[in-house]
Amino acid sequence: MANYPTKRLRRLRYNPFVRDMVRETVLSKNDLIYPLFAVPGKNIKNPIKSMPGVFQFSVDSLVKECKEVEELGIPAVILFGIPEHKDEKGSEAYDPNGIIQKAIKEIKKEVKNLLVITDVCLCEYTSHGHCGVLKGEEILNDESVELLVKEALSHVEAGADIVAPSDMMDGRIGAIRNGLDNNGFEKTPIMSYAAKYASGFYGPFRDAAESAPAFGDRRSHQMDIANADEAMREIETDVDEGADIIMVKPAGHYLDVIYRAKQKFGMPTAAYQVSGEYSMIKAAALNGWIDEERVMLETLTSIKRAGADIFLTYFAKDVAKWIDNNR
Ligand SMILES: [Zn+2]
Repeated sequence: MANYPTKRLRRLRYNPFVRDMVRETVLSKNDLIYPLFAVPGKNIKNPIKSMPGVFQFSVDSLVKECKEVEELGIPAVILFGIPEHKDEKGSEAYDPNGIIQKAIKEIKKEVKNLLVITDVCLCEYTSHGHCGVLKGEEILNDESVELLVKEALSHVEAGADIVAPSDMMDGRIGAIRNGLDNNGFEKTPIMSYAAKYASGFYGPFRDAAESAPAFGDRRSHQMDIANADEAMREIETDVDEGADIIMVKPAGHYLDVIYRAKQKFGMPTAAYQVSGEYSMIKAAALNGWIDEERVMLETLTSIKRAGADIFLTYFAKDVAKWIDNNR
């Protein structure tokens, strides 16, 4: 403490204007992607019990929701689909008249200033709830990748602006890049779920997406929660294969991975604040145990401070409103 009392770090903390001036990390609406769930039917807005404030929407209701999202100044949504029919090969995932393809077309028709990103995976569409084609109880990698290419292409043909493969099969980014390029979509970006962990925090999402696996779990393709060096290898592979944006999922407990990824690759980096992270904050807030707004902002600021440029968060609408009220 040789410099004390000359050096007093508290000098910049007394006055709120000074604090604002020296703040290093500031949330912006440009950072936000709002996840949405599409279901078959009409005029549906189903509350998801384990995710207060989050709903499943039929396509007509989804379009209304997207208009609201657009008006709030949120630049992007990411869509997840719950199909009419599930089968062994997840056929509705790449059906031109599937739930997501319909949703994209309707949103694009009605909502002009909103990026439509789509989640590309098979688990919402397969009868067994796994992320690919099965042989016995094994998920076949290359056969699954072929279907993912078809799925991504059908989303882009329907009008998706960005595709986001979340399956964690090996080689899928390169295969999807090729598939898009060979069909004239070389300008469509890929946001890769590059380091996606086999996390317990996905629990509430499985209610929302109705995608819980019929047996086993996702540890044969999603990453071991204990590994961070391996995350760098996963991300490097996806970057080499042509990913334009990389993602770490979940976010709040993986700040070291976000930090390392940003330092090492300098790529546009997204972080998914997943359902469990959201629901824990909601549940504690509903019990009056924490200040919801404050904790929401603290979690997202921490994720950005670690190096994320973009958030996928169920709080997107709340954050946008907060930003408006605090300008
Ligand atoms: Zn999946």
